[in-house]
Amino acid sequence: MRTLGIIGGMSWESTVTYYRLLNEGVRNIAGGLHSCPMVMHSVDFGPFAEKMEVNDWEGIAEGLEKAAKSVAGGGADALIIATNTMHKEADRVRSAVDIPLLHMADAIAMAAGKIGAKKLGLLGTAFTMEQDFLSRPLREKHGLEVIVPPAEERSFVHRTIFDELCCGKIVDRTKAEYIGIIEQLAAQGVDAVVLGCTEIGLLVGKDDVSVPLIDSVQAHVDLALDYVFGKID
Ligand code: GLU
Repeated sequence: MRTLGIIGGMSWESTVTYYRLLNEGVRNIAGGLHSCPMVMHSVDFGPFAEKMEVNDWEGIAEGLEKAAKSVAGGGADALIIATNTMHKEADRVRSAVDIPLLHMADAIAMAAGKIGAKKLGLLGTAFTMEQDFLSRPLREKHGLEVIVPPAEERSFVHRTIFDELCCGKIVDRTKAEYIGIIEQLAAQGVDAVVLGCTEIGLLVGKDDVSVPLIDSVQAHVDLALDYVFGKID
């Protein structure tokens, strides 16, 4: 098996899910006592979140480059950034190391392809929903249509990601709001809704809604497992 590099900790609540799903995935495929070979650099999210608030993306890119070099130096064969939002600086991360970056957009597109979804609703932080670092490769590289909720709903989702989900708080009222927002996207004819923030899957799951969900964590793990087992380069 190849060794996976992970930039984690953003937030650690979702990195835990990555760790579990990667190891369960390897056990399902390889059996016995096999587990996923990985090198993780889990950051202190506090300073990254502070920098996001003041739009210091240069400072964030520098922190991500340092983390990427640390996993590459630790023997990783490829790298994942275990958050959607930090893919804003994916190009900087990619050029900081000489191992491949397994990009979240490719993971989401692969999951969409498996269920034949062409029109996607996208939930995530305001950065992810309002900028194009994730939606552009989905549209231009993979030919998918992407829509997002209206401004008020985007702001609610963004706020609750940082104030609740990244702090480990699961609030019933918030869950009900997310379900409503997902159903509004479903009513606009999407084939699936992308949980394009790695913590949203902690709040809502496929049994809560009437439309298929693509959880970015599971999609990213599936792509990473293909790499670990040598199915992709
Ligand atoms: N984990 C979240 C995401 O997938 C948000 C936290 C962050 O800004 O990295 O976008």
